[in-house]
Amino acid sequence: MPLYDQQPLYIYNSLSAKKELFKSVAPGLVGMYVCGPTVYNKVHLGNCRTFISFDLVFRYLQHLGYKVRYVRNITDAGHLENDAEEGEDRIAKKARLEELEPMEIVQKYTVNFHDILREFNNHPPSIEPTATGHIVEQIEIIKNIIEKGLAYESNGSVYFDVMKYNESEHYGILSGRKIEDLIANTRELSGQSEKKNPQDFALWKKAEPQHIMRWPSPWGVGFPGWHLECTAMSTKYLGDNFDIHGGGMDLKFPHHECEIAQGVATTGKEPVNYWMHANMLTLNGKKMAKSTGNNILPEEIFTGNSPHLSKAYAPSVARFFMLQAHYRSILDFSDEALQAAEKGFDRLMEAIEALDKLPTNATSDFQVSEWKQKCYDAMNDDFNSPILIAQLFEAVKHINAIKSGKEQITLEDKQELIDSINAFTFDVLGLKTKTQTKANNGDEKTPSLVNMLINLRAEARANKDFATSDKIRNQLMEMGVELKDGPDGTSFVIK
Ligand code: AMP
Ligand code: ZN
Repeated sequence: MPLYDQQPLYIYNSLSAKKELFKSVAPGLVGMYVCGPTVYNKVHLGNCRTFISFDLVFRYLQHLGYKVRYVRNITDAGHLENDAEEGEDRIAKKARLEELEPMEIVQKYTVNFHDILREFNNHPPSIEPTATGHIVEQIEIIKNIIEKGLAYESNGSVYFDVMKYNESEHYGILSGRKIEDLIANTRELSGQSEKKNPQDFALWKKAEPQHIMRWPSPWGVGFPGWHLECTAMSTKYLGDNFDIHGGGMDLKFPHHECEIAQGVATTGKEPVNYWMHANMLTLNGKKMAKSTGNNILPEEIFTGNSPHLSKAYAPSVARFFMLQAHYRSILDFSDEALQAAEKGFDRLMEAIEALDKLPTNATSDFQVSEWKQKCYDAMNDDFNSPILIAQLFEAVKHINAIKSGKEQITLEDKQELIDSINAFTFDVLGLKTKTQTKANNGDEKTPSLVNMLINLRAEARANKDFATSDKIRNQLMEMGVELKDGPDGTSFVIK
């Protein structure tokens, strides 16, 4: 019997606001779609938390024996500056600012996203489609929704008719918002007058002459609305009705609400059986965000080069810190919390390293099978990683007691313990030992070396030896280390 039949998994479904027994559409197979990043900037730690949360889900489903098709998109067009669908395309705007082609921006930040997630030991998704690669599919969906009478063309743009849809369906089913409140709360913004109602959302936007990302369509030259790409790519690769759709909590409304409306309008079916939303990482009690600058970049964690940090932390320590909170809880970032996580992480890894050499006896004081089931119970309860970690520390207590001769374990139990603790720590939680991490990075000494060079450069400048100070700066730049002089001294960024 496959493991998934022995371990009933409950998932909190945002649609019903309840934990529900997970049953996949096809036995043994899971289709999972997660909204990916808009690649116009470096990913911050908050973004990483959401992708680590869904990596945990992906890993546990695979551990249970499911064959998972995990689709995570790259938003490389159509995401405008603000949620009111106003302003420039985020990618086009960055291209203008950095004087690059939009696709250079996309490439640069997609590479950064992949590099960072690899550091955190996230598994890559099974398919990673892009919005610009699915313009044809998006146009087909728009045609379909217009045919159904649920979208209309206006001045070269196409809008979803929310009021019409709401006559027979329920717009607000996911977010719990009422259409009357939406109407009351919508401010009329300039440029929205081409909509029948302010809460209608764009499926296609006419491109103004200065808009560089543009495609031909039956309604003229334009670009797709942001919500549409996810409907196009999820249904293309996972079918009209699939198992799990995830994303950060901030995407519940309007993005996911609109995805449901688009899916139901196109196929007449609810597209998703289990909606999952990961909660936010905050800094100083406020959401980490690209736009406000209230964020920490992963590379700042890995180098310790940030006013928020006292030192560098290994990616696995940061991952462990995040997994110590449940994915649906808000988590506030702080240096102290990371330090505490590092202590716990080290204690867990030391115990795992000591396992092989543990002495065995005729009897066990540690009921390993019962403990193992408690680990499963934690994960079966909506992927409760903090409870799983608490169980791992329960095992650490026993390992240390056996090591010091206070408790005993049989050979059979010891083997079961080694197998299970490895499976939960490395396969399910996706942690790496520090030695594994170092082997990948090999650059733990980089920050102190760069700081040494910064000091030498300061000395050279104090002696008016500008040739040497410029040489240090330029050669570091060639190696991808940029020095930044500010009022509080010189800091650096590794590119
Ligand atoms: P974006 O590139 O802005 O579309 O965001 C990519 C993903 O990161 C989305 O699923 C967001 O919900 C998520 N996200 C953004 N900010 C945070 C945060 N502070 N904490 C956790 N997840 C976040
Ligand atoms: Zn999406």
